[in-house]
Formats: sequence, structure tokens, C-alpha cells
Amino acid sequence: MIRVTLRFYGDLNDLLFGGFTGPMVQRKLPGPTSVKDLIEGCGVPHTEVDLILADDRPVDFSHLIREDQSISAYPFFNHLDIPASKRLQKPTLPHNRFLVDTNLGKLARYLRMAGFDTAYIREQADEEIISQMLGEQRALLSRDHKLLMHKVVEYGYLPRSDDPAEQFREVCRRFDLLDKIHPFSRCPNCNGVLQSVSKEDITDQLEPLTKQHFEDFSQCVDCGQIYWAGSHRRRLDPRIKELFNRT
Ligand SMILES: [Zn+2]
Repeated sequence: MIRVTLRFYGDLNDLLFGGFTGPMVQRKLPGPTSVKDLIEGCGVPHTEVDLILADDRPVDFSHLIREDQSISAYPFFNHLDIPASKRLQKPTLPHNRFLVDTNLGKLARYLRMAGFDTAYIREQADEEIISQMLGEQRALLSRDHKLLMHKVVEYGYLPRSDDPAEQFREVCRRFDLLDKIHPFSRCPNCNGVLQSVSKEDITDQLEPLTKQHFEDFSQCVDCGQIYWAGSHRRRLDPRIKELFNRT
């Protein structure tokens, strides 16, 4: 048996499986165990851990636990004052593309409204989800701890809040997206790109009042849905609107 003490910092404690109460967790391991397996066995996906100290020394996820070792796990911090080489997560994404889990539909819409290429998971098996994530090089956003624990998930995040607007803000903070927002460039319904269209070309598809009050229109290249200034801006959560206004 290998005895080990784990300490979780910050909101990692909110992610612990039932039966574990943070911040200090004592474990007895039957055999050699990596620190990734140890931490994830308590409920915390590796995607959420930015720094691990083993007896005060930074280690990576493959580190094998030694007898009586003391492990500290820290969440991602935007302003953590440690060298990038010691950090386990990257602060930004190579491609700002997302794959959003089935119970985060509103978050997916917000990301699309902000102009991010966002696919939505519908009743897919884990293997299919992982394969889509890899094939399309997307970051995985899910509240399913086990899904994020797949070793190949390099870019992932587990939104903490139940509130979709706050989830959107969390994702923007985690991946430093605020300067990359291009509002209303993508269709919130289907993720298609929106293209400007002249009023004359679509005039027969407009309701009389829309025709009377609006001049600028765009159309989804995939589903054909027509949008005009105000149509989805008006429905936008004020907290999200505030983020968009920063651009
Ligand atoms: Zn569309």
C-alpha cells in the first residue's frame, strides 16, 4: 500500500466526487499510480488542473506517486505567477473551435453568437464525441467529469456555473477569448457563417414591419435563416451584451 495525501486548491474542491471532502484527501493506493489517475479518481478531470506539486516540486500528470508523498493540485489561474514550463494547461487555444456537450445548449448558442465555431453534441457515445473532438480539433466543453478525463482531451473545460451566461464568461476567461469575439458572424441555430445580403435580394421573405424598420441583413449560408440588426441582439442576455460591447 502507498499512502498519499492530496490537497485540492480553489474551485477544484467543487469537482470532487461524493465521498471525498476537500481540501485534504488521504488515499491508500494498492500499487504504482500516476498522479493523473490519483487526482481523477477523486473526481477532478486533468483538464482542470494547471499545477501539481509533489512534495513542493512541480510534476506532470505522468508522475508516479511515492510512499508518503504530499500532492497539491491547483486550478487554472489567469494570473498565476509561475513559469509557463511548470504549468499543465495552455492559456489559449490553437483554434478557437468548440465541441459543447448536450446539456450546455445555451452556452453553445452564446459561443456561436460571439462568432466561435461551435459544434453541439447530440446523443453520441463517448468514443464518437472524442473522435469528433480530435478530427475537428475542437476544445471540449462538458460537465461530464468522466468524458473530460479521457487522456486525449488536451483542451477541455468543465463550466462550474449552472447559469449559461456565466458559463460563457467562464469559457471566455479560461481561454482568453475576449479579444477574439466577432459578434453575430455565425448562426446561433446551426453554426453556419452569416453573410451580408442586400435587402432587395430577400425582400420577399421579410415581414412588413421588418421591411419597414431595418436595412442591414445577413443570412446563414447553411440554413438560410435571415438576421437583421436587433433580431438576436435584442434577445441577448445583458451580461453577454456587456462582453460583446467590449469589442
Ligand atoms: Zn444557420
